Amino acid sequence: MNDLEWMFRRAERERRARKEAESILEDKSRQLFDAYRELSDREEKTRAILEAISDGILTYGTNGRIQSANRAAREMFGYPAERFPNLCIGQLFPSIPEDTFLFPQPSRTRPNLDEMLARHADHGDFPVECKVSLVSDRGNDIFIATVENISERKQAQDQIKHLAYFDPLTKLPNRTQFEDRLAFALDQARRHGDTLAVMFLDLDRFKRINDTLGHCTGDQLLRQVSERLRRAVRSTDLVMAPMGQTGHDTLLARLGGDEFTLLMSRIRRDSDVPRVAQRILETLRQPLHLDGMELVISTSIGVALFPGDGDDLGTLLRNADTAMYQAKESGRDRVVFYASTMNASALSLLNLEAALRRALQQEQLVVHYQPKYNLVSRAMVGLEALIRWRHPERGLLCPGEFLPAATSSGLLGPMSDWVLRRVCLQLREWADRGLRPLQVSVNISNQQFHSGNLVDTVTRTLAETGIDPRWLELELTENIVMEDAQMAQAMLKELKDLGLSLSIDDFGTGYSSMNHLKRLPVDKLKIDRSFIKDIATDVEDRAIAHAIIALAHSLNLSVIAEGVENEEQLRLLALAGCDEVQGYYFNRARSPEDLALELAGPVGDERRTGSG
Ligand code: C2E
Ligand code: CA
Ligand code: CA
Repeated sequence: MNDLEWMFRRAERERRARKEAESILEDKSRQLFDAYRELSDREEKTRAILEAISDGILTYGTNGRIQSANRAAREMFGYPAERFPNLCIGQLFPSIPEDTFLFPQPSRTRPNLDEMLARHADHGDFPVECKVSLVSDRGNDIFIATVENISERKQAQDQIKHLAYFDPLTKLPNRTQFEDRLAFALDQARRHGDTLAVMFLDLDRFKRINDTLGHCTGDQLLRQVSERLRRAVRSTDLVMAPMGQTGHDTLLARLGGDEFTLLMSRIRRDSDVPRVAQRILETLRQPLHLDGMELVISTSIGVALFPGDGDDLGTLLRNADTAMYQAKESGRDRVVFYASTMNASALSLLNLEAALRRALQQEQLVVHYQPKYNLVSRAMVGLEALIRWRHPERGLLCPGEFLPAATSSGLLGPMSDWVLRRVCLQLREWADRGLRPLQVSVNISNQQFHSGNLVDTVTRTLAETGIDPRWLELELTENIVMEDAQMAQAMLKELKDLGLSLSIDDFGTGYSSMNHLKRLPVDKLKIDRSFIKDIATDVEDRAIAHAIIALAHSLNLSVIAEGVENEEQLRLLALAGCDEVQGYYFNRARSPEDLALELAGPVGDERRTGSG
């Protein structure tokens, strides 16, 4: 049973109990009323009834002084029987002013039902439901109050309210509460001309952690993250409120999954919002410790401001979400403020998709090849196929300019299939011309890997073009192969059985399980460019590069570094024992025509710099 279902059942039970209680109360009131009328001759019997009833019964006169209290009332209020005649109704019910006895004002025909606080002799206040009837006894008005302790019912109600307004996992406010409070805050902001910010936070790579380490660990992680967020938000509240001046108000909520929102209202200074966002980013960058493991995550934040970015709830939420996606697209672990141009860029993405579709049909796509070199002999030992778009107006475009559009439109799969085929045909052509054969690596996209027909496509392409599988290598990113360990292992084995080589691309950027890695039938690791870039100046990057090289060799894999741009990087990689290198220092990706000349030349020192 999920929380919502449980809540509804509980509410239903609650409603029924209340109805029952009301009808009992009604009955009791009537019984009492009747009993009282026959007081003179049935005094004994009436007292017995009163004592047996489980609700508290109090009688008092028009001066507010208590005349009698039954056993339940004595226990409820904690006074002995003899104390009651000295008590006033106002001492038992703190919300009734001392000087008034007009406590819930009943009419002679209809009893009055009220919820209020009652005061125990020693244990403080508790909630009760009171029903007061007015009767006449030999010309004197007498009030009869039936009092029911509703503490438990109240508690249940509070719990239900809590469930409806809070996220059970993190105890943070949930979406319902967030939207309620945002609507209220917007109202206030409009009235007072205040600025308000809505932040959307989405953890980076949470899904992968959840899938790899299990939901239990995922839950733990979400709880730790919530705690950090709470602290980050609270401490900025304190820091930013100068002496004597109250800072902005904040409300942190979890929308579900790994999505959080932060509402900042009554903002006094423009700089407050980026400061809070920055602080959140910093806090979440610190490693988390879970089950004896150290995990590093980050978060992407999108911000929309009122009134600039929208003046109703829906628009603000949508725009904060758009900004958050932009933060993801532009590399994660950052904050992006919504700009109205974002919708325009969504539009241009649509145009781009249409143009890309045409490009695929009209053969505007081409494959260029970047050489790879043996680090010791400096001989060209392979090529990486990289797609380019010969755009009719904009010239030669790099994948960064169109791959995002290809991915979001589902064109990446067909495009990557096309590259594979193009590469095999190229290998065929070079072989037919008697050129020196070189192994070519092809990048495999996430979509292709998960399409379910990668093995078939590769098998068919190899058969149709008739090339030797040894000349083909597939590059799969670390993310792809680590996401679904079992599936990846089976799939890589099938690919490997075809006779081709496999390499793990962008190694070091993802979240690798060593246990999994050693079972994968791969031949090579490619150290991600980001560790090579500052290898000469950043000790940490250098240590990581060294570790990857050592790891690869210990698993009998060869290792290649990409993005080598200068002699110093090359020297350090040689010292570390790296096998192969690739980068602008040697060559950029080149057209097949350009390369053919070189492939025809002698084997030896083929280093050539700067050609584009
Ligand atoms: P990648 O697989 O990491 O490819 C290496 C990228 O680094 C290439 O960028 C290459 O031109 C660039 N590069 C090589 N040496 C250097 C260097 O010394 N310095 C710098 N700064 N960069 C260097 P490119 O061609 O723009 O490709 C970018 C990404 O697009 C590739 O990253 C790959 O993920 C994707 N991609 C390219 N072609 C294909 C393809 O045919 N299919 C698929 N699925 N993805 C592709
Ligand atoms: Ca690659
Ligand atoms: Ca790479």
